[in-house]
Amino acid sequence: MFSHSEKIRFSAPPQSKPIAERGRRISTAFIRMIHRELGKTGVQLPIIGLGTWQYRGGVQPLRAGVALGACFIDTAESYGTEEVVGEAIQGVRNKVFVATKVAPRHFKHSRLIRSANESLRRLQTDYIDLYQLHWPNYTVPIEETMGAMEDLVDSGKVRFIGVSNFMLHDLRNAQKALRKHPIVSNQVRYNLIDRTIEPRLLHYCQEQNIGVIAHSPLATNLTKIQEMDPNNVLSRLAKAKSGTPAQIAINWCCSKPGVLTIPKANSERHVRENSIACDIQLSTQELQFLDAKVRFRRRGWFEIEMRRLARHMLQLVGKNQ
Ligand code: NAP
Repeated sequence: MFSHSEKIRFSAPPQSKPIAERGRRISTAFIRMIHRELGKTGVQLPIIGLGTWQYRGGVQPLRAGVALGACFIDTAESYGTEEVVGEAIQGVRNKVFVATKVAPRHFKHSRLIRSANESLRRLQTDYIDLYQLHWPNYTVPIEETMGAMEDLVDSGKVRFIGVSNFMLHDLRNAQKALRKHPIVSNQVRYNLIDRTIEPRLLHYCQEQNIGVIAHSPLATNLTKIQEMDPNNVLSRLAKAKSGTPAQIAINWCCSKPGVLTIPKANSERHVRENSIACDIQLSTQELQFLDAKVRFRRRGWFEIEMRRLARHMLQLVGKNQ
């Protein structure tokens, strides 16, 4: 269920192909896309964007997604997909919000600036909308890294600063290290079967007006969610709503205030299916049903801290960067 204050925009689907997929009802003329402000930026983003980790679909599925209103593309220097994103946005650059990431091994000041310039070249653009630290690097002072990020904003090469995979402690430290520009988003794993962020991080981000970009909203593979759904709630709801299980899973994610999703799909069919997922309206009861019936894990404080420590150790010996 989406709040009434959120903006709903309609876009005409591309004429060439019908937008109905796998029994999904045929939308007659327009597709509904809900927009949500990213942090306090004043920028309204579609709540469903396009992920590109392990993306092999070429230019066309991305262009189809953008035409359907999913005009928010996420990539990273380490994905090897910045070039294809760059190609896909040619001619529509000003309509697409492009997010990319710098890898932790490049967090020293001059190296980070070089990474941003290399991303700009691969993306064939002169600005990055959202530049994100891919995950924390405990071997480089966060003040140095954030200083470079702020320099990029000051130079106009980056519009907004984001982080990714930052748990609460790391996020607070990163916020403290900034002087002029805020962190507008945190990209973290969030889906029906992994709700680690819910009790603390999600709440904090909502309070601080930091957008949560939910990565892996389909748990990297929809069957993983279905395995945790012994009562087939996802399929049953999908059938009742004339949708698909993937659309229900995506919908569940972005029903949470402040959350945006970036499902990845190689095929145009999946991109279309995902991009029209917010055509489905789930009631509070249906969302609560999903909350209760799909099994999930939530890492506790101790496990989060142990993982942080392990990452730190690995980084000290030059790994996990
Ligand atoms: P995901 O979006 O949760 O799931 C992708 C998988 O779901 C693919 O196998 C895809 O198949 C399939 N799929 C997509 N749409 C479907 C549909 N409608 N029906 C059935 N299956 C469907 O996985 P993800 O790639 O891990 O996460 C999404 C994005 O989040 C990434 O691409 C990346 O941009 C970001 N991410 C960020 C981090 C980070 O550390 N910041 C980590 C992971 C991911 P096909 O490709 O065959 O369509």
